[in-house]
Amino acid sequence: MKKLIITIVAVLLMLPSFATEGMWIPLLLKSLNESDMKEMGLKLSAEDIYSINHSSLKDAIVHFGGGCTAEVISEQGLILTNHHCGYGKIQSHSSEEHNYLKNGFWAMTKEQELKNEGLTATFIVRIEDVTESVLKNVEGNMDPKAKKAKLKENIQAIETKAIEGTHYKAKIKPFFYGNEYYMIITETFNDVRLVGAPPSSIGKFGGDTDNWIWPRHTGDFSMFRIYANKNNQPAEISDNNVPYKPKKSLSIAMHNMKEGEFCMVYGFPGRTYQYLTSDALNYVMNAANPARIKMRERSLSIIDATMKSSEKKYIQYAAKQSRISNAYKKWIGQNIGLKENDAITLKQNFEKEFSTRAKGTQYENVLSDLKALNDEMYDYNLARDMFIELFYMGPEILSFSTKFRAFENYNKISLAKDFEAQKVEKLKTIKKFFKNYDQETDKKIFITLVKTYREIMKDDFEPDAFKIIDNKFKGNYELYAESIFDNSKFCNENDMNKFINSYNSGAAKKLIKDPAYVLTNNILKTYKLKVEKKYMSLNIQIEEKMKLYLKGRLELFPNKKHAADANSTLRLTYGKVEGSSPKDGMNYEYYTTLDGMIQKNNLGKDDFKLDPKIKDLWKAKDYGQYAQNGELRVCFTGSNHTTGGNSGSPVLNGKGELIGLNFDRSWESTMSDYLFDPKRCRNIAVDIRYILWIVDKYAGAGHLVEEMKIAN
Ligand code: ASP
Repeated sequence: MKKLIITIVAVLLMLPSFATEGMWIPLLLKSLNESDMKEMGLKLSAEDIYSINHSSLKDAIVHFGGGCTAEVISEQGLILTNHHCGYGKIQSHSSEEHNYLKNGFWAMTKEQELKNEGLTATFIVRIEDVTESVLKNVEGNMDPKAKKAKLKENIQAIETKAIEGTHYKAKIKPFFYGNEYYMIITETFNDVRLVGAPPSSIGKFGGDTDNWIWPRHTGDFSMFRIYANKNNQPAEISDNNVPYKPKKSLSIAMHNMKEGEFCMVYGFPGRTYQYLTSDALNYVMNAANPARIKMRERSLSIIDATMKSSEKKYIQYAAKQSRISNAYKKWIGQNIGLKENDAITLKQNFEKEFSTRAKGTQYENVLSDLKALNDEMYDYNLARDMFIELFYMGPEILSFSTKFRAFENYNKISLAKDFEAQKVEKLKTIKKFFKNYDQETDKKIFITLVKTYREIMKDDFEPDAFKIIDNKFKGNYELYAESIFDNSKFCNENDMNKFINSYNSGAAKKLIKDPAYVLTNNILKTYKLKVEKKYMSLNIQIEEKMKLYLKGRLELFPNKKHAADANSTLRLTYGKVEGSSPKDGMNYEYYTTLDGMIQKNNLGKDDFKLDPKIKDLWKAKDYGQYAQNGELRVCFTGSNHTTGGNSGSPVLNGKGELIGLNFDRSWESTMSDYLFDPKRCRNIAVDIRYILWIVDKYAGAGHLVEEMKIAN
């Protein structure tokens, strides 16, 4: 019986992937997906989606700030992305007098649009398969280090040549763990201005309660505009710049949406890990996720309380809170889904089939080799993940102190040509940091996270500096924290300003004795010595074996359509507008309406607060051309394989028209980063008609809707 089940599972795994699984490389759509997509309802050709010969949908897709996706929706460079993607910028323009997070922001003229230092909008010029040239003279039996060096050399040479004489950038990235390489040529614009954002009661409606949850009613959108120089080319931020004229802008679909209709998502998915072996997945489910969840649960309890205590602190911590809580809740969902699907057993069953097919081939031992390496890696992986949690997601006093490294050596820096300029820069850094910093909160985070970190970590990896907690402070973390926060300048704006303004050799000497600085150095040194070195060397070996394993999968399962893991490059995923039945006795409708917002609001919870104007419009049923059968639809779900980075991606119908704005997945779906289950995995989008209704009826910014092209 057991054998039979294994065989059935193995056979299922060999079948071509479900139509909805996979994030596909646009360049390969024609050969891999076009017929499948057409059968499902695509009315365009693969060339209409991606072409280097004429403008295609790809020219409307923007990598927003390097992390999210946005799309061009007017001939004047107007782009649409998520509220949570613009959040950091909206927050940075917010103050108690102009609280754009709370009240929203709408530029009624182009002059009112807000400039954003450091925000970029990147277009894809072309994608090229460069596997052969990258792997030239890279021999299989080379020493791993030499191989890495040769690869690097080849990559640099190809990249440099590709962009000669242009203002483009070139980046070659590995796919299928280095079995294939693609070069992405991009054009980046640096003047991207904030045009509109709804208040958080719309853009973040449902807050943490609803994040990753269906049914959903979040109007998660914001609008920006790309500016270019007079020649329509990228330029630094300047008043002389003009709105960018795009090669392609998307048309907006106003048609009645039907369940089962074809849809696709075009964007920049961040990372997925579909090909991890069962033992690597075991690490994620049973070590990494529980540990990270614990750390974040504790810091969030402090941040959430701080944010409730005053408007100022709410603004200070809003963006940080979102960053921490988003992944925290996702990991919980992931573990639930992976357990329910018995993901480890599924992988093990597949691995048995792989091993059977691999007998007598070069792949015969690859899984056992990987297992041995992953076992060895386990503790180092955890030490690294915990270091990241503590150092980059934890008390800010630590990472902030590293920004002043250059000021450690007075003689060197005071002689630098740009010494005065560096001081000015540092004063700016200080101002920016303290705008969003509350010492008491940071201290509480410090106490709880250092404690939790030590509970989870093995003693061998612990920074020596923490020994003092047991020896001198007898396990009293509060006293330990006071010894740092009471004596460090890194948690005090005045002290920091004074330090830079009257910087001299004495100040430099004090800097290296600052308790936060000393602790930071010790944490970093311990990490580098005890963790990073070994982690890196194991990682190189694992990557090598994963490359071989993937080669084996591609070769031994020739009937399966293989999709490369997401790696922040442009991808297309397709499926249908559809609901799901993620659990026994549970059926999810595929769309939600404004009525549902009112129902949630009636619960009286803070996360469901509503602007009275929304209620008035609802009472008057003032939905205009944006309604379908008398209802105003807010969000919908689709069976598209998406992940982080797809935030802000357009959801397009079969004609390539914009029907929605992707922003999330249901909690039951978050496992799709490791394993896509077509029955339960759904992406969540805001209905484009709701977005237009908010802009037009709620915000009175109808001039923006007029800029857009509405499809018949
Ligand atoms: N809301 C998600 C994010 O924050 C998007 C996703 O992962 O589906 O990245």
